[in-house]
Amino acid sequence: MGLAARNAEGHLVTDTPKRGFATRLTHGSRPPVRSHGFVNPPVYRGSTVLQPSCEARVANGKRRFERVMTYGTQGGPTHYALEDMVAGIEGGTHCTIVGTGLAAVAVPLLAFLKAGDHCLMPDSAYGPARALAEGMMKGWGIETTFYEPTTTAEALAPHFRANTRVLYLESPGSHTFEVQDVPALTALARARGAVSMIDNTWGIHHFQPFAHGCDVSIQALTKYVGGHSDILLGSVTVKSEAHHLAVRGAASAMGHYASPDDCWLALRGARTMAVRLQHQEQAALEVARWLQARPEVHSILHPALPEDPGHAIWKRDFTGACSLFGVVFQPRYTEADIFRFVDGLKLFGIGASWGGYESLALPSGPSISRSVSRPLPGQAVRLHIGLEEVADLIADLEQGLASLPR
Ligand SMILES: *Cc1c(COP(=O)(O)O)cnc(C)c1O
Repeated sequence: MGLAARNAEGHLVTDTPKRGFATRLTHGSRPPVRSHGFVNPPVYRGSTVLQPSCEARVANGKRRFERVMTYGTQGGPTHYALEDMVAGIEGGTHCTIVGTGLAAVAVPLLAFLKAGDHCLMPDSAYGPARALAEGMMKGWGIETTFYEPTTTAEALAPHFRANTRVLYLESPGSHTFEVQDVPALTALARARGAVSMIDNTWGIHHFQPFAHGCDVSIQALTKYVGGHSDILLGSVTVKSEAHHLAVRGAASAMGHYASPDDCWLALRGARTMAVRLQHQEQAALEVARWLQARPEVHSILHPALPEDPGHAIWKRDFTGACSLFGVVFQPRYTEADIFRFVDGLKLFGIGASWGGYESLALPSGPSISRSVSRPLPGQAVRLHIGLEEVADLIADLEQGLASLPR
C-alpha cells in the first residue's frame, strides 16, 4: 500500500539491521515494550517480578538468561533495549549490561579464567584492568603475561602456553594509543583454543570486533554512548550463545546489575552519538594537527594521523577515530612544566574519563604503568576533545603553551 509499517501504538516497525549507523541509533530499540505512542521506551524499575503461578515461576527461572523475567537482577525491558542497541553497534548477537566499564572488563575475564589458567594482556591495557590482573586474579591463581601491544602474531606465539585461556586486547592502548594487529592476534588465539576479548571503547563503532576475530567485546558506555559525563555503565557483547551463557552466568553469579535509569540515559545518549562522534572526530583531528606543528610538541599519539606508527593498521581495520589522543612534549619539559600547562587551561577540565560533550586534559605520566614497552620520549598529556568551538580550544591551548619555559 506504500504505507510504512506501524504498530498499534504508532511506532514504525523498521528493518534497522540493514540501515546505516545513524539510522540504527535513531530507530533501534524503539519500542521494546508498550509505550502508548510515546517515542521513547519507558524506564522499568523493579526488584520483584510477579509470576503467574508457582509452576510458571520454576519454569521461567530456568530460562532467566533468555530474558524471561523473574527478578530484577536478571534485568528488564529497559536493560534489554540498551543491550539490543549496543549489540547492534558492536555487530554482536548478545549483550550484557553491567554497572561500569570496569565491571565489563572484570566479568568476562572472570567468566573465562579460573585457578591455574594463564592470560595474555597488552602492556597498554587500561590501568584498572592491569591492576585486576596483577592483584585479585593473581591471588586466585590466574597468571598474566603482559605483552608488547604492537607485537606480530609470530612474536606472540611463544607466549602462549597449554593453559592460556584468554587473549586480552585493547586497541588503541590506553594513554599510549598503540594499534594492535587484531585479526592476526585473534587468529592465533583461536588456533590455540583461547578466547579473544577486546576493550573496544576507543573503537566504538569505528572498529567491528567480531569481523576481526574477537569473541568478546567490552565497552565503557560511560564514554561516548552516555556522552554527557553523567552515568557509569559497561557492556559485554558476544556473538555466540555459549559465550553469552558464560558472560551472563558470571555477571549473575557475582550480582552485577545496572540501574534502569542509567540504561535509559545511555539509550538517550546513543540517539545522538553518530553526530557527536562525527563532529568530535574532525575537531580532534584539527586540534591534533595544530599541536603537531608546535615546537613544544615532540609527537602526537593519534592513529588517524599518517605519521603515527599505527596508522597503516588503523586504516586497514577502522572506519574512523574517536576524539581521544595523546600529546608527547619535547623531552626538555619536566612533569612540573606539564602540570603547570594543564593547570593553566581554561576550557579543558582536569579529570578522568572521556567521551562526554566537554573537553578534558590529563597528564598521562601518573596513569602509565608498563613492564615491556619502551617509555615515551617525553611527558605526555591525554586530550579529549568535546563539542566546543575548535578555534576556542586551539586558542586555549596556545595560551597554555605560552606558560612552558622557552
Ligand atoms: C573508562 C574506561 C574503562 C572503564 O569504564 P568505567 O565506566 O569508568 O569503569 C574501561 N576501558 C577503557 C579503555 C576506558 O577508557
